[in-house]
Order: sequence, then structure tokens, then C-alpha cells
Amino acid sequence: MIHPLFSDVAPQGTPDTLAILARLVGFNTISQDSNLPLIDWIATYLHSHGIDSHRFYDATGTKAALHAVIGPPDAAGGVVLSGHTDVVPVDGQNWDSDPFVLHADEHDVYGRGSCDMKGFLATVLSRVPHLAQARLQAPIHLAFSYDEEVGCLGVEEMAADIARRAAPPALCIVGEPTLMKPVTGHKGIWSLECLVTGLEAHSSQVPYAVNAVEAAAELVAYVRSVARRLSSDGPFNGQFDPPFTTMQTGRFHGGSAVNIVPNRCEVSFDLRPLPSVDAAAVIEDIRQYAFRVIEPRMKDIDPATGFEFRIMSQVAAFDIVDDHPAVSLVQALSGSNDTAKVSFATEAGIFNTLGIPTVVCGPGSIDQAHKPNEFIARGQLRQCEVFLDKLAQKLTQGGAI
Ligand SMILES: [Zn+2]
Repeated sequence: MIHPLFSDVAPQGTPDTLAILARLVGFNTISQDSNLPLIDWIATYLHSHGIDSHRFYDATGTKAALHAVIGPPDAAGGVVLSGHTDVVPVDGQNWDSDPFVLHADEHDVYGRGSCDMKGFLATVLSRVPHLAQARLQAPIHLAFSYDEEVGCLGVEEMAADIARRAAPPALCIVGEPTLMKPVTGHKGIWSLECLVTGLEAHSSQVPYAVNAVEAAAELVAYVRSVARRLSSDGPFNGQFDPPFTTMQTGRFHGGSAVNIVPNRCEVSFDLRPLPSVDAAAVIEDIRQYAFRVIEPRMKDIDPATGFEFRIMSQVAAFDIVDDHPAVSLVQALSGSNDTAKVSFATEAGIFNTLGIPTVVCGPGSIDQAHKPNEFIARGQLRQCEVFLDKLAQKLTQGGAI
């Protein structure tokens, strides 16, 4: 039987983490809405422990990332604890309890974001009273973003600011759900939208028209050939599943009647590059095929026809060598000597690309993320608490690495 947990109730076991998690889950922070009430709450909480925070707002001013430093801000060997505050929607999902009220049974706690990834945020925040008093020799950066679930949009500015510091952190831990196992790589995600403009005509007048659907189909066929080449010729990396870069057409809309030459077609492509693949070059090759091979024939009939492209999301792939000291440290903290590459993307690629060695390691299982009755095991939160306490101990003795 599950029952609701409230933030002012101290349940047995892990009171602080669960009380904070109840507060965080109570803020509906689906990506399309403002996360400011949650950010305000975290800032007030940090402030009550003597910690200032700084915000990075989006263009609309309705969402913000939050950065706070605990410990000596300019000391070398610091650690970033990175997490996103947004959650995926609950529309169309059949929940047994209110997704925005934390519920619990003996083993698990339920709520939207409990696993992905307010459980990590709550565990980190539960350690703040202790960290604020500890004699840290190197700083802990809290880096809480927005809009991760819609393409890692709300972390770039904050991450760049952290990386620019005089003594950049030695390690970033992204607390996405990995069952507290160190994850050392994932593929990137690029999505590309394409609008094809043709010239409409009665279908008896085909030679004087430009068929947008057929032009788009030529490009789809080319993308298919690129995808086939990537799967047959590589590059390959057996740590990923599938072990090569994939690309596909996910959406194709055009045409209204069989006797009208269509003047418009919209297509969307999805690319999942291995870390070793230059994704921008793959995209550019596809654009150039459209511009150089398909488009000239269209423009011979009407110069106003052609292709327009827009990159809709661009999440960098991420890879760190398994014998990197940052990986060894996370293995020691987590008590897990394994490493894994995963199929879901995170903000790790952004921090790693900026030169901050990054490992993904956080409580809960990705299998429970984004689903109805999303939950996290109490034991996972406990493991994360132990992990963070070991990290604090390490930082009181000196830098992370
Ligand atoms: Zn997530």
C-alpha cells in the first residue's frame, strides 16, 4: 500500500532526503513551464545555510539554472554536482497516485521526477547542512539546470561560466539514474528539420511544377544510404548498443491530393552519433547533397523552390577513458568497479566538451524514468547519500583528484 509523504513529516530511514524530495516533487516543473518556484525554494534553502546562489535565466525569464559554490571557491580540485530540475509531462499516463505528491511504500518512493532526477537533487541538498560546516579544501559546485528533457538547452551558459573559472573543477558528476554505477559514455542526439518548398500545379502539368514530396524523398533516400554506410563501414564501438552511429527519418509530411503536385514537404531526421563521429560533418554532408544534387533541378524550374534546414537539438556525445582518474574516483566513491556506456543522452557531453572530466553516476534506474508511477528505491537514495558523504570526506582532505 502506498501512502503520501509530506515535506514536514520526517519518515524513518532517510528523513532529510525524503522530506526534501517531497518538496521538490511538489513543484510541477515539466519542461514547458516555469521552474522558478522550485529554484526560489532551493535558493532560500541554500541561503538558510549561508550559501549564496546565482541564476542563469532563459530568454523568457521564466526559467533559470542555479549555480552555487560550497567551500573555497577558487581552490583547485573542485567537483561539480550536475542535475536538471525539469521533468517530463504526465499527459496521457495512468498514475495510481498524484504524480506531484511524493508517495511511498516500504521500498520505493513514487512521483514525477523521483528518479529522473529530483532524487539526486534532494540527496545533494540533504548534504548541504553538513557540507556548509565541513572544512572543504576544494569547492563543490551545485549546477542545477532546466530544459534538459527538451534537448539539454538550459545548462550551456552555466557550464561555460563554471569552466571559465581560474581553477576549473577537476570533475563533474552528472547524477542521472545509473543505479549508482559509473557511466563513461553515451551517444549524442542531433535532430534536423527540413522544409522543402516546391511549385504547385495540376498533376497533368508535372514538367512545369516542382514536386516537394519527391524532392524530400530523394533526400530521405540519401539519408538512408548514409545510415547504411555508417552501419556497414563504421566507425564501430562495441561498448554501445547498437555499436555504430544511427540515423533515421522520423517524420514526413507533404501533399494534399493525388491530382495536385505538392508544393511543400516537411521532414525530420534523427542522428545518434558515436563520440568518435563528427556529427556536424554528417549533417553538413546531407545539407550539401540537398543543395548541390537535388536543388539545382528544382531551381531550373522555379528559383524560389528549394531546401531549408534547422537543427532542432544538438546534444554532444560523451566519452571518457575508463582509466581516467575522474573515473577511478567515482568508482571508489560508488564502490562499483564496473563502467558502462548507455543509450540515453545527458548533460555530460557539455561539461566534458568544456574540459571538465565528467562521469554520469546517480541513484535510480533509467527504466523507471519518464513512465507512469515513476519511482526510486529508498536503497538507491541511501547509496547516493553514502557516495556524497565519501566525496565530502575526500574534499576535506584536499582536491578531488
Ligand atoms: Zn534526466
